[in-house]
Amino acid sequence: MPSMPVTRPAGAFLSASPSGRDLLLLSLAFMAVYLPLDWLTFIHPRPSLNITPWNPPAGLFMALLLWTGARGLPVVYVTLVVADLVVRGHPASAGSLLASNLAIVAGYGVAAHVLRRRVAIDPALERVRDVGWLVGVAFLSAAAVAPVFVGIFVLDGAIAAADLPLLAFQYWLGDAIGIAVMTPFLLILHQPGRTPAWRLPKPPSAAQTAATAAALLVVFLPVGDGRFNLFYVLFLPLVWVAVSHGLPGAVLTALAIQSGLIAGLQLIGFPLHAVVYHQTLMLALAITALFLGALVSERRRVEARLREHQAELAHIARLAVTGEMASALAHELNQPLLAAISYTRAAQRVLEGCEVPPRAHELIDKAVAQAERAGEVIRGLRTFLGKGSPQLVPEPAAGIAREAVALVRADAAYNRVELRLDMAEPLPDVLADRIQIEQVLLNLVHNSIEAIAAADSPVREVVLRVRSAPSEGVTFEVEDSGPGVPADMVDRLYSPFATTKPAGMGLGLPICRSIVESHGGRLWLSRNSGPGPGAGPAAAQGAQFRMFLPAA
Ligand code: ADP
Repeated sequence: MPSMPVTRPAGAFLSASPSGRDLLLLSLAFMAVYLPLDWLTFIHPRPSLNITPWNPPAGLFMALLLWTGARGLPVVYVTLVVADLVVRGHPASAGSLLASNLAIVAGYGVAAHVLRRRVAIDPALERVRDVGWLVGVAFLSAAAVAPVFVGIFVLDGAIAAADLPLLAFQYWLGDAIGIAVMTPFLLILHQPGRTPAWRLPKPPSAAQTAATAAALLVVFLPVGDGRFNLFYVLFLPLVWVAVSHGLPGAVLTALAIQSGLIAGLQLIGFPLHAVVYHQTLMLALAITALFLGALVSERRRVEARLREHQAELAHIARLAVTGEMASALAHELNQPLLAAISYTRAAQRVLEGCEVPPRAHELIDKAVAQAERAGEVIRGLRTFLGKGSPQLVPEPAAGIAREAVALVRADAAYNRVELRLDMAEPLPDVLADRIQIEQVLLNLVHNSIEAIAAADSPVREVVLRVRSAPSEGVTFEVEDSGPGVPADMVDRLYSPFATTKPAGMGLGLPICRSIVESHGGRLWLSRNSGPGPGAGPAAAQGAQFRMFLPAA
């Protein structure tokens, strides 16, 4: 049996602390990149205050804190203070310089701690959940840091109290954009524990890059005396890349758009209010990029997992069919072989009184030995191809049912059958080989769908009902609105090769029953609209199969 695909526990790499060597290397790289980046992007600073409308360095220290946790705080603090002195030529007092950076480090330190330890986000960000948490927590902490940061300068007398709300908003905007654009890019670029740990995301195609560049040009075109702003054109290439490349492509494109936008605004020399306006729009674009990209990536991952799972189930099904065929053949051939052996022995006894050459007895003995050998070969084959003992482990009954329904949903939709899962949770765990039990459920639901489709039933519905059973276990019930099991099939349901379908093999139910019995459970036809055992009230249409599995 092929092993289940190994899925990495979410956030495993982020909640682990980096080694001393990794911490040192990351810190050095951080300092080496931070200062030039801060210098490069230190545009439109608010006079007497170092607030810029786009602050990618915030995205950089957020990424470092996510990689390193609390151990990265000192290096972030020192780098911020140095950057203020060197790059920004900090104008206020030493006290406000130290206090304002302390506010930043404390605010984002808490955010990183929550994301690493409490939420345990997956650094690959390929789930909408992870993107949602990153954006939500980072934006909230920026909103908490902003008024404290600006407030420190108000207390210092560097700015008027009346300016606080507007400045705090500008601070928030700069950090929010910096984080939304830079942090996801860096997290995709470097994931500790992955090999290789640094990996560039796959770039968009040449056509997509050209479309992005063209859209950027359009934004800066002076249309209608500059009264129109065509910013929204930028959403088109972004959506295109997000749909084709998933999150990594979307993040890369958002970064390219943001860089192009800032370069354009600087080159043309837009006033501060225009830059703030564009950055507000850019924030909407970056958030769209993140969520759309994550949605596409998540969907792809789920589809890939489903395909893997289906391939595995198909493999198990083939094995089960071969095993069941060998078993049935062995059973069928054993009888004639035993008969041949006893006839040959009888012939030998009949010949005993007669004048026959000794060679004749020798030949009869050989014939019997060969027939016995044939029996052993068949029995051996049966053992070899048999399903073996299942790997029983405690599995959540609800999880098995959900996965089985997900796997057969496309089949149901194709046949216009409504498939419903009806569970009364909480349900206990069952002792099961998950794949084998899913195989049973799939087979039962598939039979129901086939019966409904073949009879072209007016009501087309299959229900998988899962209930906690009073006798220490779980019952899974597959009920359909089809024609029911034909009367002449009811007694032969579990005999191999009994089928009413032109292309059927008649092995599905025998395999299901032997799987369920090897789990210490039971499988039976619990209600049937046709005559015979299990027939229910006249109003009840269709067949209902029930499986009981003991609780773990
Ligand atoms: P196969 O599907 O290859 O025929 P199975 O052992 O799964 O083999 O089923 C045996 C027979 O039982 C089917 O051919 C069909 O006649 C009958 N059967 C099974 N499930 C249903 C159902 N839900 N409704 C009606 N008939 C059913």
